[in-house]
Amino acid sequence: MPSVSESSNGVTHHFTVDVEESFHASALESFVDRADWETLPSRVEGAVRQLVDLLAEHRTRATFFVLGWLAERRPQMVRDLAAQGHEIASHGLDHKRVTQMGAEEFRLSVRDSKRQLEDVSGQAVLGYRAPSFSIVRGGEWALDVLVEEGYVYDSSLYPVRRPGYGFAGGHRDPHLIQTAAGPLHEFPPTTLRAGPAILPVGGGAYFRHLPFGFVGSGLEAAQRRGAPGTFYIHPWELDRDQPHIDVPFLTRMRHYGHIDRTVPRLRRLLSRFRFQPIAATLERGGPAADSVGLSAAPSVGSGKAARS
Ligand SMILES: [Zn+2]
Repeated sequence: MPSVSESSNGVTHHFTVDVEESFHASALESFVDRADWETLPSRVEGAVRQLVDLLAEHRTRATFFVLGWLAERRPQMVRDLAAQGHEIASHGLDHKRVTQMGAEEFRLSVRDSKRQLEDVSGQAVLGYRAPSFSIVRGGEWALDVLVEEGYVYDSSLYPVRRPGYGFAGGHRDPHLIQTAAGPLHEFPPTTLRAGPAILPVGGGAYFRHLPFGFVGSGLEAAQRRGAPGTFYIHPWELDRDQPHIDVPFLTRMRHYGHIDRTVPRLRRLLSRFRFQPIAATLERGGPAADSVGLSAAPSVGSGKAARS
């Protein structure tokens, strides 16, 4: 296998973590009552520690998109992440999907979570990722709000066509969006072109369920385009001993299936590719990508974004 430096084409990808409890996860949201959150067992800290140790083994820093709900209840975890050199960013206040919020509720979610995370971590929060990648076509107003609330980048537009989420036809590599409120850097999760289809291979359940080669191929194709890919994982995906909630078969597979693969696959991924926090790419002047307005974003099948 070629070493990282031989094969990377000078590209350093982004390793990102959506920090939430397993009961916050989208697959389980319709089976868990929000009123029960306070009484369910909290397991996030152990899993985050495991993830941080894995990253340390590979001398890798990452971006952690943390819920405001956790900044309030687990401030020491957030402080420790920041102290270890990781980037703290926002995953919103309480994992409510953007598609279920009006503009004012969304504004409070991104404003309050940013303030809480900054107070706790002592770091400026630059980035946001929507719960369940829920900034969809028609929801572009949310990007304006992010700029108005002081965010520099977003990582919510998953350029795939999926039920319930996805920004189908979106630009696949990092790019600058000219919103009505000003510019916003966008870092889409990694995808892979397969014939006419654009597959989500950026992480999460896809990382556990698809063959490892899909994620590797997605990152390699991004490297060939000279663009960093963005990988994501959740702490609960490392937690083999999490208590199981009684849910239907498909939900059980999606959420709990192949949890045992996560850690060995992460080791493989971290050995093969070079990663850094998204803020580190921005510090170096941002990705080399065209500035595009949303309406003018190249559709799949044309232009630079369509290659490989
Ligand atoms: Zn989430």
